[in-house]
Parts: sequence; structure tokens; C-alpha cells
Amino acid sequence: MTTLPERVTITEVGPRDGLQNEDCYVETPQKIELIARLNKAGFSRIEAGSFVSPKAIPQMRDAADVFAAMPRREGVTYVALVPNVVGARNALAAHADELATVVSASETHNKRNINRSVEESLREVEGVAALASDAGIPWAGYISTAFGCPYEGDIAEEQVVKLCTRLRGLGAAAVALGDTIGAGNPRQVANLVRAVQDALPDTPLRLHAHDTRGTGLANVFAALQEGVDSFDASVGGMGGCPYAPGAAGNVATEDVVYMLEEMGIATGVDLPALVEVARWAEEIVGRQLPGRVKDAGIMPAADAE
Ligand code: MG
Repeated sequence: MTTLPERVTITEVGPRDGLQNEDCYVETPQKIELIARLNKAGFSRIEAGSFVSPKAIPQMRDAADVFAAMPRREGVTYVALVPNVVGARNALAAHADELATVVSASETHNKRNINRSVEESLREVEGVAALASDAGIPWAGYISTAFGCPYEGDIAEEQVVKLCTRLRGLGAAAVALGDTIGAGNPRQVANLVRAVQDALPDTPLRLHAHDTRGTGLANVFAALQEGVDSFDASVGGMGGCPYAPGAAGNVATEDVVYMLEEMGIATGVDLPALVEVARWAEEIVGRQLPGRVKDAGIMPAADAE
């Protein structure tokens, strides 16, 4: 076990991964206000939208408008998810600071999700990488279903390591391991992180944890123990799980921040401000969100009775 990192970077994915997977359509001004509020809470990285076909994902149909009108804070990286070259062009036109691409570790999931083989997806990533490189901005490679697939079940470690190697070979600045269905457990997370680190020692790794079965924070801690210092989370736990209606999806950012800050690990995020955003987020999506800290509150002051 390595020493725990002193600080971590959190990518707030609520405006994209969160809202994209909510049933309702959140209007453009509210999306912009969400980003403004997240800016104020101190995030250095915000996934602000997805440049994807509006037919495939109507929730993100206003991504270009959001990018054009959202307040940009100095020093903050605004990430755009792009499924293909067309999306990458649109994201670059909208002045995204960084691109994120997704490939599934599971052939079946990739096929059912975007109707492409993994090889076909990697060819598309190659095109995205070339555009990002021309624009002089970094891109990250997300590996979805890295800890389990809704169709194939267990995913072999070697499969994920192989994909990491391919993505790095194409120029990914970082690789994110996505627990798309929240099936991962802490030992599995530690083992996979170690396997990737062994094969690709200099690869910046990120964990995209889901809390579908209650293992989200434990998985964050397991990765932290292996030296991972970059995590995705969604304010309030917005988003849910596309494969289990009603279940939790992304780990709630305020829960992750609470745990880390209480452990003495700096996140740069203002927790009370974030809790307020999480409570407000319930209004814009019109449902109770699964994050715990927004309901329980943060630790009482030491002098409280
Ligand atoms: Mg997610």
C-alpha cells in the first residue's frame, strides 16, 4: 500500500453524465446555472456536456448553447464528452478545453450501446485524437464496463489493460476506469489499478465509480490506496443507472468530498457550497437524489451539544 495522496482532483460530471441519464429534460438556463454554482463551489474540472446526436440523447441537445453561454472560471477545465469525430468537431467549435471519449471493455456492451465493435470505436477515437491534437488540447479515454458488463458479466483484467494500452498509444492524456453498472468491489478495483500501473506505469488513472450496489465510496478508497488521485463524481448522485431503473449511479460528489476532506485529503471543493448545489439539483431534476451528505448535513462543529 502506497501513501495516500495529499490531494485529489475531482471531475464533476453532473452537468453531463448526471443530466444525460435523468429522465427529464433540464432547460438550458438551468444547466448554465448548475455550472455557475459548481464554479462557485471550487471545482477545477467540470464535464459540461456531450456532443452527441440529439436523437440518441435528447437531454444533451443544447450542449453547444450551454458551452457558449456558461460562465467560465479562470483555471477550470470544461470537458466535453464526444462519441465520434463529428462530436469532436462540434465540441472544439464550442471551445471545450478537453475531450473525453468512451470505449467499452465489453464487446457486447459496445455493440448494444453505440452499435459498433470495439475496434470500430477505436478507429473513431483515432480520429478524435487527431482533432484534439490539431487543436492542442488533451483528451481522456474512458473504458466503460471495466468492472463488469450487464450482458457479459465479469470482464477480464487483461481486456481492460489491453484497451488502456491502445488508448495510451493513441495519445490519451489519461485513462478513466468506468464502473458503468456499479458492479465493482474494492479488491477488484485495487487489482485492476495495479495491473494497469504495472503495464503502463506513467498513465494518469481516473476512477469513474458508481454506487449502484453501495460499493462506490469503498471503491474510491481502494483506488486511493493504490495512488489514484483523480475521480469522477456527480453532484447529488444525479444520473441513476441506465441498466437498473431507480438505482443509484455515479457516486455523489458531496459524499466523496466529505469522505476525503474528513480524511485530511484536499479536494479544493467547498463542501457547504457543494451541499447547497446538491439540494438545489433535486429541484431541477424533480426527484430525490441518492447522495447522503446533502440529507445528513456535514459534520457538526466540535462545540455542538
Ligand atoms: Mg457514470
